[in-house]
Amino acid sequence: MATTFESLDPATDRVVGTYPALTPAEVDEVVAQARAATSGWAALGFGERRAHLTRWKQLIVQRMAELVQVVCDETGKPAGDAQLEVSLALGHLAWAAGHARRVLGRRYVAPGLLTANFTATVEYLPLGVVGVIGPWNYPVFTPMGSIAYALAAGNAVVFKPSELTPGVAQWLADSFAEAVPEHPVFRVVTGFGETGAALCRSDIDKLSFTGSTATAKKVCATCAESLMPVLVEAGGKDALLVAADADVEAAADAAVWGAMANAGQTCIGIERAYVHTDVFEAFLSEVYARSSALRAAVGEQVGPITLPRQVDVIRDHITDAVGRGGRSLVGGLAGVGDHFVQPTVLVDVPEESTAVTEETFGPTLTVTRVADMDEAVRLTNAGRYGLGAAVYARSGGAALARRIRSGMTSVNSVISFAGIASLPFGGVGDSGFGRIHGADGLREFAYAKSVAQQRFPPVLALTTFARGPAVDARLARVTSLVHGGPPAWRSLLGRRVPRSAPAD
Ligand code: NDP
Repeated sequence: MATTFESLDPATDRVVGTYPALTPAEVDEVVAQARAATSGWAALGFGERRAHLTRWKQLIVQRMAELVQVVCDETGKPAGDAQLEVSLALGHLAWAAGHARRVLGRRYVAPGLLTANFTATVEYLPLGVVGVIGPWNYPVFTPMGSIAYALAAGNAVVFKPSELTPGVAQWLADSFAEAVPEHPVFRVVTGFGETGAALCRSDIDKLSFTGSTATAKKVCATCAESLMPVLVEAGGKDALLVAADADVEAAADAAVWGAMANAGQTCIGIERAYVHTDVFEAFLSEVYARSSALRAAVGEQVGPITLPRQVDVIRDHITDAVGRGGRSLVGGLAGVGDHFVQPTVLVDVPEESTAVTEETFGPTLTVTRVADMDEAVRLTNAGRYGLGAAVYARSGGAALARRIRSGMTSVNSVISFAGIASLPFGGVGDSGFGRIHGADGLREFAYAKSVAQQRFPPVLALTTFARGPAVDARLARVTSLVHGGPPAWRSLLGRRVPRSAPAD
């Protein structure tokens, strides 16, 4: 029998809901129910699934204010921030539903010269039941990056939200059940870490995890017990690089918003800035002007720290920075309260400080002077995370972006890649592996199914014991021609065939 737990408003500790903490047996039961629903959902085809997902999207839009309120209640974030995340999540739901056929549908591929007598097709089939474990910081946007894409690919989804945001998850599942009552393929299991671990051990076909790097390692270990494939979206320590020719005001504005929005509780939030020495002072004074005007409090633009124990991590990082000779330009230790942390800008912080090396997940920003952009890239890439980054430069921004070891980089903006649904989202290193969003995100929740169908007997019969020396000699000649002949030959022999294949 499940016990219950309370969901609190982090700004006031007011109880906003009570939810069951599901036991492993109860998780298994929900997964079994989801599995029973998969065949009907998978059989629908892309068009009908799109219609169902569109109905769900429209219902969310109709009740958007209600969802925004639930997000605000459980995370404490300002309504504008909650609205932004809901709007972006809807963009992903629409994209996944609208592009699944193009990305995953059956298509012809070139069979190649030696197998020219074949028709070769590939399609991406649903895995079955996808488990999704999500964090609390963007309780709609982040899990939707897996949920929408997994559903559009034809899977059922069982979602374990953070214990801090069960109400948001339940709201999403209830709205899906209302919009698509005939297909119960989106289910929620609430509870603590043990419920998440039970989901990892249940009869699912893949797990998509978003959360901290430390928990990701536990999740991977649990999933390894059954060779369960895992997608990991973990923490980050994103940097913003400012070149000598950058629009300094725009860069400072982006740095402050990127660092302080959602009280810094953003996996792709800006936590470090590396600024060319020529514009360092100008940048710092713009950052000072903007960040000192911000305040963290109820009703202000910066909300509370949602996870109470994160306050200790933020305090530790600021203490470490100051202890190693850093200075608080704005905020600092005095601004670390029980529920709120005041926006903090740190300068002269050594690169070894935890404020630079570890994910702080609070409204803090270190600003560091660099001699040139090579140094900025080197320091950016020195960390173990590799999630996102941002570059401000009037020229050469894209080239700089490509030198940064991160899954995503914005040029002359921050965080924008997350809102472009066609762009894959994910990291390298301690930030994880696999991708949500875009075509890659759809393929994460499907497996490639290849079919090679022989249309007529081959000129050279290779897969038979009846193959004699004459065939071997001809094969050698053809191989020399195809792989050793002039480029014109190779391109002629490797020419493309049509992309889409008709459905059976
Ligand atoms: P956690 O790692 O603490 O928790 C993530 C989820 O895992 C929660 O639902 C949690 O449940 C669950 N969980 C905890 N222990 C286990 C376990 N042993 N087995 C299975 N599941 C478990 O992360 P937070 O919720 O604190 O989220 C913040 C982190 O998420 C930050 O590091 C942030 O960078 C990262 N993040 C990454 C994103 C990305 O796309 N890369 C996007 C958003 C956030 P419970 O809450 O009940 O303990």
